[in-house]
Amino acid sequence: MIIDRVSDKIIDKLKKTSIEVEYKPGLDRESLLKIIENYDVLIFRSRLKVDKEVIDRGSRLKILARYGIGLDNVDVEYAIKKGIAVVNAPKASCISVAELSIGLMIAIARNLHLHIDYVKKGVWSKGMFTGVELYGKKLGIIGFGRIGSRVGVYAKAMGMDVLIYDVKDLSMVMDIVGGKQVDLETLLSSSDFITLHVPLTPQTYHMLNDKTLSLVKDGAYIVNTSRGEIIDHRALLKHIEKLGGVALDVLEEEPPRSSHLIELIKHPKVIVTPHIGAETVEAMDRLADELVENIFEAIKWCLNS
Ligand code: NAD
Repeated sequence: MIIDRVSDKIIDKLKKTSIEVEYKPGLDRESLLKIIENYDVLIFRSRLKVDKEVIDRGSRLKILARYGIGLDNVDVEYAIKKGIAVVNAPKASCISVAELSIGLMIAIARNLHLHIDYVKKGVWSKGMFTGVELYGKKLGIIGFGRIGSRVGVYAKAMGMDVLIYDVKDLSMVMDIVGGKQVDLETLLSSSDFITLHVPLTPQTYHMLNDKTLSLVKDGAYIVNTSRGEIIDHRALLKHIEKLGGVALDVLEEEPPRSSHLIELIKHPKVIVTPHIGAETVEAMDRLADELVENIFEAIKWCLNS
């Protein structure tokens, strides 16, 4: 059963096998709990929590397949304990997310959102908002995995100096990467641009909060394409005036309803996109291939165990 909007390609690929596919995009939690007992494989995105209750009700469940990367909405440990395989598609959208991160960095540095808005309203805004270049600036990358390292390559090509904060020791690859691994405090206090690429875990939840945001340099720009919960948005609103600008593809609450989030979105120093990091033709195409391959690997694993 597929409970979220996915590309036609993945449905076609699965239907060509002996797997019976039921496509129910937008299925709500109550309905999911009522019918999950009838399915062996659940394909889902980040909308609903696949927690203990869902897993316990899924008495036939053998595979949980996350259509995307982040597994923060899945109780992976509990699923594995119950013998259920958990798969995702970690590689498919890396290029798209890295490109969006650089795009957001340029957009916020050049106030593109304001100019686009003014020009559409008939005001020729030339001279109203002067931007800054990325060239020669320090970029702090928090989380140097698949996406963060690619952002690093693009940033180096644009003449930025790269600082990296990651829990992994990256000293062996630093020469190749051409960046410098530093602690979080050093990264925050010396970067002109900061970009976030860590997974959402108890350790990364509100990593940027009132205390850490107060370390960020005046006039610095922050880009987040990872997970909304990595930043405390109330604290971000508190610190917004001292920042150069903020560009977010992810929010603590999606879609946003809380008044502090609405205030943040409407702030002229803020750009928000609606979680579109992986929303490209190419990423969706790769995602279908990668996820189906991983589902079949999991089926083999189920048959052999
Ligand atoms: P990855 O696992 O390849 O890399 C994450 C890196 O973060 C690793 O190097 C890891 O060592 C580091 N890390 C983990 N915990 C840390 C901590 N506490 N402090 C510092 N570093 C830590 O992940 P990825 O594929 O590069 O994905 C990065 C993020 O992008 C994830 O949050 C993912 O959910 C998000 N994402 C967003 C979109 C979108 O649509 N905007 C799409 C895909 C992925």
